[in-house]
Amino acid sequence: MAGCRQGPLQIYRQLLAAYGQRRWWPADTAFEVMVGAILTQNTRWENVEMAITNLKQADMLEAERIGNGDLEELEGYIRPSGFFRQKSRYLQAMSLFYHHHGCEFGLKKWPMYSLRKKLLAVRGIGPETADSMLLYALDKPIFVVDAYTRRIFNRLVHLPQHASYGDTQHYFHSRLPRSLPLFKEFHALIVEHAKQHCRVKPQCMDCPLRQHCLYMEQRLQPCGEAHPEQAYAHVAATSD
Ligand code: SF4
Repeated sequence: MAGCRQGPLQIYRQLLAAYGQRRWWPADTAFEVMVGAILTQNTRWENVEMAITNLKQADMLEAERIGNGDLEELEGYIRPSGFFRQKSRYLQAMSLFYHHHGCEFGLKKWPMYSLRKKLLAVRGIGPETADSMLLYALDKPIFVVDAYTRRIFNRLVHLPQHASYGDTQHYFHSRLPRSLPLFKEFHALIVEHAKQHCRVKPQCMDCPLRQHCLYMEQRLQPCGEAHPEQAYAHVAATSD
């Protein structure tokens, strides 16, 4: 599926050494993680934080209250997260599902893939959202694939950027031990790396992964590797 300079486990270790443990997900309860997983669709985390603060201040961060609450009121609280009309309906559907299935403890009893299937049937929950909930709220060892994962691994090892969600997830599942702490930490590190270095316009010069990155290697080629300073000057001139 991809050219393979380094495996994901080696990349994980390098990211961990570079950024340290991220200790995700930033939330007080499993339900808050699930709410955050919906609110973070198509927006920045800072906007999600504002919406969650509004819900907390209104004492609304409870499954029953959101599920049976007034829709317009809910829209007002989550407005900072964008797409608030759509997301308020998604939140109500998820909250009712969560409440009717025994909340955190009831859901955790389900086998992972049966639970995933049930989550995917809830309005507004796609594969990335479902897997974020499974991993960070319900302690199920599943690898979360997002746009950052696709971008970074396309550049690092030529993992096809437009492969299906399932194929991309399989790439990681087949190369990593099924470890809950590893999967939690790895996704958080990927997000950190995408923000700090592997941006849309990558900042390769001080990237902790540059020694083994196929994208970087290709960019160095025009200058040849006989004179590294010249080659790096070429990259510097075309990076942020
Ligand atoms: S060297 Fe550049 S392209 Fe490669 S991982 Fe680092 S920032 Fe991304």
